[in-house]
Parts: sequence; C-alpha cells; structure tokens
Amino acid sequence: MNNCPFKMPEELPLLAEKSTEYMAYESPQPATWCSGCGNYGIQKALERALTLENIKPHETVMVFDIGCHGNGSDKINGNTLHGLHGRVISLAAGAALANPKLKVIAHGGDGGILSEGVGHLVHAVRSDYPMLFILHNNENYGLTTGQASAATRKGLPMNGSPDGVILDPMVACQFVMTLHPSFVARTFSGDLHHMTKILRAALNHKGFAFVEIMQVCPTYNKATSPAWFWDRVRDVEKLPSYNPTDWWQAMKAVEDLDKEIMMGVLYKKDQPNFLERLPNRKDVKTALTEEVGHHDISALLEEMK
Ligand code: SF4
Ligand code: MG
Repeated sequence: MNNCPFKMPEELPLLAEKSTEYMAYESPQPATWCSGCGNYGIQKALERALTLENIKPHETVMVFDIGCHGNGSDKINGNTLHGLHGRVISLAAGAALANPKLKVIAHGGDGGILSEGVGHLVHAVRSDYPMLFILHNNENYGLTTGQASAATRKGLPMNGSPDGVILDPMVACQFVMTLHPSFVARTFSGDLHHMTKILRAALNHKGFAFVEIMQVCPTYNKATSPAWFWDRVRDVEKLPSYNPTDWWQAMKAVEDLDKEIMMGVLYKKDQPNFLERLPNRKDVKTALTEEVGHHDISALLEEMK
C-alpha cells in the first residue's frame, strides 16, 4: 500500500511521455535572474503548459516587455521578440490579429504594464484580442534596482522612496475585472503545478486571457517571501461554492492581497473574440498573413496624379 501523503500532479506522467517535446523549448542560453527569482518557475511552467497542450515552439509568438522577465526572451525557444517598455501588448495584439493560427503570448511586468502601458492593457481587455497575457507581478521595478511600481504595498521602503510608499497599491485583477474581461486568473510563482494548470486553461481561451502571476523577488521585495505567500494563497477550486462565471463573486474574490489571496481561474465568460466580431472577417478561413500578395497599383497611382 502506498502511504505517500503527496498526490502526484497529473501532468508529470504526461510530461515524461513528452520529454523530447518538452526539451524543445529549452534554450542553450543560461538564465541570468537572481538566485530564488520567481521567473525561473514561471518560464518552466510555461514550457510545461505549451508542451502539454501540444503546441510546438514554431507555432508560438512570445513577446516580452522590458523588465526582469524580459531577460527570458532568449531563454526559451520559439518565435520571440523583446519590445519597448510598456508596449508589449500592442506588439503581441498585432501578431495575434495578423495570424491567429499562431499562439501569441505576451509577458509584461507590473512596472511597465500598470503605468506606462496601462492604456494598452485597457483596450486589449475591452477588445478581447485572441492572446494570452502574463503579468509578472513582483510589486516593484526590479530591473532598475527596486523602485516602487503601482503595485508596491503601501508603507514599504523602496529605492527612490526610502520613507515608504505613500499610495495604496493597484490590485491588477480588480482593475481588469472593471473592464469586463473574458478571462482572469491568478497564480503564484512558487507553485509550479498550479501555474502550469492555469496557463493551460489560459492557452485554451479564445479571447484575451489575463493571467497575473504573483512573483517573488527576493532581491528587492522583502515584504512577500515564498513563505509569506504559502500562508495566504487559496485555490478557488477548493471553495465549495465558487462560480467563475459570476462577475460579482470574482470582483469580491480578487480584492484581498494581504490575508487570503485567491488563486485560480477567477472569472471567465464565453463570447466571440475581436476577430470573430469583425464583419469583414466573417467566415474567412485564411489569416491576414496568408492574404499578403503582390498587387499592381500603378493604375490607382495614375488616377491619383
Ligand atoms: Fe528576479 Fe527580483 Fe532579481 Fe529581478 S531583481 S531577477 S525580479 S529577484
Ligand atoms: Mg515588476
């Protein structure tokens, strides 16, 4: 009889079967994040989720913003692009609309996305572009040595604000919920299996999938250690009456980031995505990238003279 108290995560036997495909995502470039950084686990979870969903590296577009997570752009195999600060969602949305046959994944940090790039986030959620967005929320600007971001906890001394942050933090999932999204999830960089599960669910969503990963940053964010998170994270799947299609329930669940931090698919709804709503793309089976061709416009130019 097996008395082991730990349950084998269901993806492990599957991953063993797919070990060659799993390795296909591994880049020869060594990762350069600090020891203990949450980005290691996030990248591994994404590789696992893509492999388990039978998505090959050449079928992906992975766009990275500027920030610590952005140093992952050459640490994973696939079609990758490292963009400008705060602008990752617009680059990824362009790729997703031009070729929806590819799996488009955008990565951004709380620094770039909740300040400079917040407008892109707002309209990507409203538009329901067909893509996955991963918010690496380490609650500070890690790459520039630990300044406060819009997500930093009130009172925390940071570089640039040594007397403590004077503003209340922005709660990313709560903000996104106000925009009437089609998919909102939250997970934690210390839990590889939960991250893999959530990313798999997000990869299967046909609209804009917003996934916030509460990320530990042992170098600059001393307020939230892995142990601090483990004491607080709660999986909504284990709550008997949680209904992820109930907007009000999700709105209430996302607000607490201090005592009980709700994880899981917090909200989802099925609706036509941006491309499915466009009248001129109705019943079109080709991607825009397949419709590019040579066209003789000399007569048109002549007419315009
Ligand atoms: Fe990771 Fe923080 Fe180091 Fe950046 S500063 S690599 S987020 S631990
Ligand atoms: Mg950050």
